[in-house]
Amino acid sequence: MEGERGSPVAADQLEKELERLRGGFLEKLPARLQALVEEWNSQQGDGWSQDGARALHRSVHGLIGTAGSLGFAKMAKTARRLERKLVALLEGTQPPTPEVSAEVIEWFERMGEDATSEADEGFNLTSFENMAEWGTSLFEARNLIVVVEQEGPFASELALQLGHFGFELQMFKEIDEMVSGGVERRPAAVILDISSPDGELMGEEVATKVRDTLGEVVPLVLVSNRSDIEARLDAVRAGCSSYFIKPVNYSDVLETLDRLTRSEPEPFRILIVDDESDTADFHATCLESAGLETVTVTDPLDVMSQLVEFQPDVILMDVYMPGCTGLELATVIRQEEAFVGVPIVFLSRETDRMKQIAALGEGGDDFFTKPVAPDQLVPAVSARAQRGRTLRLFMEKDGLTGLFRHSRIIEQLEVAVRRADRQHGTLAVAMLDIDGFKGVNDEHGHLVGDQVLKALAYLLRQRLRMSDVLGRFGGDEYVVVLPDTDGSAAMEKMDDIRRNFAAIDHETSQGSFSVTLSCGVGEYPAALTSHELIAAADEALYRAKRGGRNRVLLAGDED
Ligand code: GH3
Ligand code: MG
Repeated sequence: MEGERGSPVAADQLEKELERLRGGFLEKLPARLQALVEEWNSQQGDGWSQDGARALHRSVHGLIGTAGSLGFAKMAKTARRLERKLVALLEGTQPPTPEVSAEVIEWFERMGEDATSEADEGFNLTSFENMAEWGTSLFEARNLIVVVEQEGPFASELALQLGHFGFELQMFKEIDEMVSGGVERRPAAVILDISSPDGELMGEEVATKVRDTLGEVVPLVLVSNRSDIEARLDAVRAGCSSYFIKPVNYSDVLETLDRLTRSEPEPFRILIVDDESDTADFHATCLESAGLETVTVTDPLDVMSQLVEFQPDVILMDVYMPGCTGLELATVIRQEEAFVGVPIVFLSRETDRMKQIAALGEGGDDFFTKPVAPDQLVPAVSARAQRGRTLRLFMEKDGLTGLFRHSRIIEQLEVAVRRADRQHGTLAVAMLDIDGFKGVNDEHGHLVGDQVLKALAYLLRQRLRMSDVLGRFGGDEYVVVLPDTDGSAAMEKMDDIRRNFAAIDHETSQGSFSVTLSCGVGEYPAALTSHELIAAADEALYRAKRGGRNRVLLAGDED
């Protein structure tokens, strides 16, 4: 579709484009549903596996998204019901009963009927205009949180605290006020206080109102004075993302909002290595039609450069190729430390079990025998990709804060330096360290200390751009890489963050306290390499500490 990210698309142009997409969707839907029914049937009894069920869930989830965005509201609703059912099944290890199984097939059929019944419904242009508007403000809208609460200091307290983290709050006293009062733009989440004096259960009722007003995709956080199982079930049925019981700990709410406001996960990236370009194309088409990204390499000798460039989640590799075999190539890949964790799936016509086992010994993770049906290839590859990504996450991200670890941040910094170099651009590196953090641990305990470390991570994530790289160097020391930013802009940004951080009330059972941080900023090209940049930021940080803490200094500046 035409139109840059952020530039409004004319409503009529959008309508035409969507009509075309709708037509294509409707045409392919029967086959898609049929494939899902077959997949479901193959999953019954002994065929049941969690991976398979998860893959099916993902497909249904995908359908909801597409149906919803193409204006098949009824079908999307049916698909959502089915999705909830699948999620419930996923939690268990048992295959579904024949009754449940038949019911699922009925849902699939109903989806097709729904879509057909909606085929002639034109687009509602008002909702389109809204969509176009929301689409363009999506980036800035990331931080709007809508709070609906009748009474009490909870909302105003929350607003104050969340404000320090860069969230913007829009408050309503009543749900009906929100329905009629107009929410400014699409919020990242809605926090709903459903406490009622007579203990009445209202989760489903209010959730429906929110969804009818704001659309299905907005995550709901419920706050209640009831902790009993009926109330929790009510919240689950209302489809809420989180449930908090009063009195609410703000850092828990923050953790939830931090999770909900992160961007959508990127599609899985699959590197296909096959000397037969037709086969490679076929696999690429199957995977791409399911929303995965692919790059194809027909000369095995090009693999290493693609590994660096494309950063695949899975490598799908032919066993027999001219030049070198897939097994040799897997060994070479495994010798490279950065790629030890990337799952390799071998594809071959080889039916000899012993040879397949040998392939697994060479660092392959799985073996598929060609030809692989598309409806098997996609879920199998997606499941491996998911596992690979989780594994990489553990290796690259700090468990407490979710920020990059030391080694990874240096790697990212090097990429940023090369880019700045190429484009004659700017680049800044900031190093932050909490002031007197040992004292926080000593006075309030390690757990409260951890809460402070997490708060700084949330703050950085909320206040910095998606393109900035955030890392925890260890202990109470953080590093931020800011591409396309010069020293003075970085100073300004970091000083804002310093002020925000100092204003946060960290809660303990004995009341709350605040802490400050110090920061040093190094800039390119005053410092030219990643090591020089880190050293420059570190030197400035050291001066900031010596100069009295709670300040941001630029490398090379006078005190
Ligand atoms: P300064 O103002 O000079 O930075 O003083 P400081 O007390 O902050 O000193 P320093 O930065 O050296 O203290 C870091 C402390 O962080 C020491 C260590 O016990 C603590 N720490 C390191 N990792 C963790 C962690 O994961 N959780 C918690 N709670 N504390 C940690
Ligand atoms: Mg410190």
